[in-house]
Amino acid sequence: MKATIALLPGDGIGPEVVAQARILLDAIAARFGHTFTIEEGLIGGIAIDETGDPLPPETVALCERADAVLLGAVGGPKWSDPNAPVRPEQGLLKLRATLGVYANLRPVAPHPAAAKFAPLKPELLEGVDLLFVRELTGGAYFGEKGREDNGRVAFDVARYSVEEIERVTRRAAQLARGRRKKITHVDKANVLETSRLWRSVVTRVFGDEFPDIEFEHVLVDAMTMHLLHRPASFDVILTENLFGDILTDEASVLAGSMGLLPSASIGDGRAGLYEPIHGSAPDIAGQGIANPYATLLSVALLLRHSLGLDAEARAVESAVSQALDAGVLTRDLTAEGAVSTSQAGEYVAARVREAA
Ligand code: ATP
Ligand code: MG
Repeated sequence: MKATIALLPGDGIGPEVVAQARILLDAIAARFGHTFTIEEGLIGGIAIDETGDPLPPETVALCERADAVLLGAVGGPKWSDPNAPVRPEQGLLKLRATLGVYANLRPVAPHPAAAKFAPLKPELLEGVDLLFVRELTGGAYFGEKGREDNGRVAFDVARYSVEEIERVTRRAAQLARGRRKKITHVDKANVLETSRLWRSVVTRVFGDEFPDIEFEHVLVDAMTMHLLHRPASFDVILTENLFGDILTDEASVLAGSMGLLPSASIGDGRAGLYEPIHGSAPDIAGQGIANPYATLLSVALLLRHSLGLDAEARAVESAVSQALDAGVLTRDLTAEGAVSTSQAGEYVAARVREAA
């Protein structure tokens, strides 16, 4: 197939890990006979430095004509002055809104090589294979915000419409069909009106359209404990924006390292946006030691969800898994014998080139 892929390296370790993604995409194209047109664009702090705008119009145009977008990370101390007129993170929020990516997917499946870094008993992590589906463009993060009473009172309005809940619920249900057909919907329906709307819409959509899928409602406060006591009992976890932000960070602990977790943000029609969950890691930037696997696993999600290339996605996931099995580990995963970012990336690309 032919596809155009936009790469937005961004700041800090972003360019280092995205360089490995580029090598991997070339390996996939060669091994499976695809033509990927890869184009780079500016976003974040580097875009502010070069153009004054964290999301220049050329980048928007590039992403709008691309089939998928792979992002490294944005931000860093150079641009973190709270009084600065523009900030790198504004570029990312604007890009999410422009692409209309309302569903954020975060798989969490601990690999034994990394799980030993997780602060949980190994037996609790056995069989853990979670897929979070977080609503990404609504709720308190996007509702009306403001101050009253000379700044002494602040508010953030949490607002959801039936349509916003339906579309992300359908996404989650379709994904559950390819997995264990089980969804846990997380809310706070004993207190919040938005949660009561979520509960009724989720229940109706499942009843009418997905009778084959088992679903349950769990309160978010209880869920924070269940995730650490019995993570293996969940499969797809569907929730609103704010709860999803918190729960996915909590769940990242199950995987042992930030350097291993990918994410996908998808909507209807336009390009999906793929990125590692970690940030720009300014403390290790420029040293060639960042773990590239989260970004390479984000490439797998890109191949699967935006290009429909499931065998290719599995080849990438298998190659990363082989690298972890073989002890090809960056410094975040091992004290001794750590490999560099490019050695790790090259190992994965080589496994893909020889994939059956
Ligand atoms: P942001 O605000 O952009 O999320 P942050 O400082 O909150 O940045 P990260 O940039 O993700 O969070 O870094 C958190 C810690 O994890 C840092 O010590 C960083 O070095 C480490 N880290 C993050 N990503 C990686 C990676 N890919 N490889 C190795 N270490 C990483
Ligand atoms: Mg962070």
